[in-house]
Amino acid sequence: MARSKSSLTQVLLSWYSQNGRQLPWRKTKDPYAIWISEIMLQQTRAEVVIPYYERFLQAFPTVQALAQAPLDTVLRLWEGLGYYSRARNLHRAAKQIVRHGGTFPRDAKEWKELPGIGPYTAAALAAIVNGQDAIALDANLLRVGARLFGERGIVTSPVVRKRIERRFLELLPPGKAGTFNQALMDLGATVCLPRNPRCEACPLRRFCVAQATGQQEKIPVRARRRVRPHKQFIAAVLQDERGRLLLVRQADRGIWGGLWTLPYVEARSWREARPKLEAITGTRMKRTAGRSPYSITHTFTHFTATYTAIPAIPTTRVRHGRWVRPEQPNLAVPVPHRKLLQAFSRGGFGAIPHARTPSNP
Ligand code: SF4
Repeated sequence: MARSKSSLTQVLLSWYSQNGRQLPWRKTKDPYAIWISEIMLQQTRAEVVIPYYERFLQAFPTVQALAQAPLDTVLRLWEGLGYYSRARNLHRAAKQIVRHGGTFPRDAKEWKELPGIGPYTAAALAAIVNGQDAIALDANLLRVGARLFGERGIVTSPVVRKRIERRFLELLPPGKAGTFNQALMDLGATVCLPRNPRCEACPLRRFCVAQATGQQEKIPVRARRRVRPHKQFIAAVLQDERGRLLLVRQADRGIWGGLWTLPYVEARSWREARPKLEAITGTRMKRTAGRSPYSITHTFTHFTATYTAIPAIPTTRVRHGRWVRPEQPNLAVPVPHRKLLQAFSRGGFGAIPHARTPSNP
């Protein structure tokens, strides 16, 4: 048994040395750069992260540069990557590191003390940066582990997670945690795919219980998914005489904390939304006659949302927010609101052929 375990590890590492992905953060030993990559990779695919990672490091090549940058600049570089709390936490953590003399954590426990670092990221950083024997059990590793070990319990349950982690720890070659974790990550990302795993190309197929028993598609076992709720938001598109639109800055928390958006609220109708929009902007407003609303739908991890933008006119002086050119706001704007600005700058909502008018705006 011990021999089969060690040969599994050897097979995996030798496959990785030939087939591992060439990713920019794997070419460095700089803890700062690796930390940035691990935060960007949370919930995000490597191909999406690469250009953001490169731009970010160009703008902030050191932890000191990041700590000194204004949050708005950090958020602008993060724009489009989503989960903006990651950027806010990175910024806070950079300040914390600089306050402590610019020294990076030495193990998983110390990594976890930084804002925005949970057990998975702490384990990944401890393994890759510090060479600590740890397993970074993300969705990829859980899937590979569940199939490899023929785990039939619900894969996200703490007991099953612990079991898979223990099995991987038994296989981990001491002192090579970084390579071992990255090999498993790559196997999960390129071979042991969530659907249609490529078992015929898998270096571990002779060790794999799911493959031997034809259970690849049934494992990992997941808890039944709850139906994703749907939310409706109404945004006011307030325009000044120079054609600029009003954006407001979101408070420094929540999914878009620190970003700029059209004034918007969760509501099902203009009548319900208007008083709240007036409170946000500090102005009275009325709908623009003859202009259509425009809706887009956006999918978040835990819900979907429809944003309906309604052209409106301020009838008193606007007290809060900033007027920007919709085609070039020069502020960090989250994707759904950027889409609304782009739609508007393409000719106003009335001119957009696919604009969807909600039944009860
Ligand atoms: S043999 Fe198939 S199911 Fe098993 S680890 Fe490889 S790709 Fe995944």
